Amino acid sequence: MLHSGMSVDTMIRISRAFMGCEFELVLTGAEKAYLTDAAEEAFELVRRLEEDLSVFIPTSEIAEVNALADQHPVIVSPRVFRLLQKAAELSAETEGAFDITAGALVKLWSSAESVPNQDALDAVRATTGMQFVHLNERNNSVEFTKPGMRIDLGAIGKGFAAAEVVQVLRDARIETALVAAGTSTLYPLGFPPDADAWTVGVRNPLMNNERLTTVKIRDQAFSTSGSHERFVEIDGVRYSHIIDPMTGWPVKGLLLACALVDDPIESDALSTAFFINGLEWTRAYCQARGDVGAIIVTQEQPGDDPVVHRIGTLQDIGGA
Ligand code: AMP
Ligand code: MG
Repeated sequence: MLHSGMSVDTMIRISRAFMGCEFELVLTGAEKAYLTDAAEEAFELVRRLEEDLSVFIPTSEIAEVNALADQHPVIVSPRVFRLLQKAAELSAETEGAFDITAGALVKLWSSAESVPNQDALDAVRATTGMQFVHLNERNNSVEFTKPGMRIDLGAIGKGFAAAEVVQVLRDARIETALVAAGTSTLYPLGFPPDADAWTVGVRNPLMNNERLTTVKIRDQAFSTSGSHERFVEIDGVRYSHIIDPMTGWPVKGLLLACALVDDPIESDALSTAFFINGLEWTRAYCQARGDVGAIIVTQEQPGDDPVVHRIGTLQDIGGA
């Protein structure tokens, strides 16, 4: 596209696997080499974040917390400490639905070969809850007050990475970019070259590659939670990877929950919480907040068409 300055805009689209998904960057600017360098810098940052945050990397800060914090306080980096503080706030905000201490339940279900019995679930559930995590601001330390607790940042890590990536791109003076952390979180920087908002498609969870609806986003992050892509199958039954910390059971009910709000860490946590807390809770929450939009997709009965519920003002949530 030609601008008044007659410089030719270039767009690059580049993706790399991190955090169990494909991170995709769409960057626009004057020079391809410059954009490619910025993308490499952004990917390097995500790689380092994954090294700090992943429960699957034994040397990560979070793995160290999980291994030792029930014995003594574990000091973490300021960045990880702030993320844990933010996670604690979001847990309170969502009435405990979003809860990073659901980690032990997540592990139990994801590795289960048969449905866990209720006693086993109750025992693990008793180690779940942010009230058992002591965050000491004076030395950035984390301590668990129950043995066997486990933190899992799977519902917030991609949003956090998207926020950090956009900061790197902004520092590199890139004005137009779209960051996609898999299908989990989308976070734009600036405006698309030829429009005043980004139009984002929401895929039909029942029919791959079919678009169910679209959303316009502008200076906001958009996150999606669902069970159709990630689940565990036990005895032929599919169980969601999202666990309700109140019951200890994988969540059933909605097909999809999406959240739209200015902070990608928050949109990521909220889409997970909306998926757990359901349609009516999400409606009431968005009404009380005013600055949060949601799309909830339900299905009355197996075999029925999905129903899209758009929540929040039209401006928040864009046009269909
Ligand atoms: P998302 O796809 O953002 O909704 O995050 C789902 C991931 O977060 C799961 O794969 C688990 O790793 C983790 N998780 C599951 N249940 C919860 C929960 N209730 N609160 C926080 N994280 C959870
Ligand atoms: Mg999430």
